[in-house]
Amino acid sequence: MSKYFTFIGPIAAGKGTQAEILCEKYGMLHLSTGQIFRDAINQETELGLRVKNLIENGFLVPDALTNEIVKEKLANIDLKKGFILDGYPRTINQVYELNKILKMFNISLTNAVLITVSEEETIRRISGRFSCAKCGHNYHDEFNRPKVEGVCDACGSTEFTRRKDDNPEIIKTRLKQYFSEIQPIIDYYKEEKLLIELEATGLSVQEVTEKLEGLLY
Ligand code: AMP
Repeated sequence: MSKYFTFIGPIAAGKGTQAEILCEKYGMLHLSTGQIFRDAINQETELGLRVKNLIENGFLVPDALTNEIVKEKLANIDLKKGFILDGYPRTINQVYELNKILKMFNISLTNAVLITVSEEETIRRISGRFSCAKCGHNYHDEFNRPKVEGVCDACGSTEFTRRKDDNPEIIKTRLKQYFSEIQPIIDYYKEEKLLIELEATGLSVQEVTEKLEGLLY
């Protein structure tokens, strides 16, 4: 049976990295709203122009626009493969809207997965992360370097990039925003008996993957 997960948790908890690994291994689709927005900014599309300032300053994109993007994305993928939503929903309104969207497609969420790390580790993780400029594959200076130095493991590109919103001031804004929105979301998924929690502080990428596999598959 197809599985539909959402990964929630603070920035740099490893949501994107783990979603990418698990989707590759289990043939699921990885839907990161942050990545959709970043791609739109890089390609200078109308959406990109609308969200550029908000994202680069660490603010959330308005719910209505974000929900619309998710709905459109789900309408254009093979839902039988299952998916992992990464970074969505991020407000309680998005939670309710996601329910409606999933209903439209006759599917329902399998689990909401809360991956947490300590604030100290969050800062350490964010300050070292970078990604392939071509395919978006995620790396970290300390924990997750390319197998061949300077060459992307996933696509062979030699160009890498660091996110503009991964700087100390913007990180503060993003963390504040996360903590102001997350509690009702956690409460809701707990109440619905959909929440799975994983404390990832101090664990390696591989250790977190193994734990998630044990919990989700
Ligand atoms: P992320 O890659 O998940 O850290 O997202 C990067 C940025 O994209 C966030 O700081 C927001 O500005 C925007 N964004 C991503 N997902 C959402 C969402 N579900 N709702 C609103 N804004 C979002």
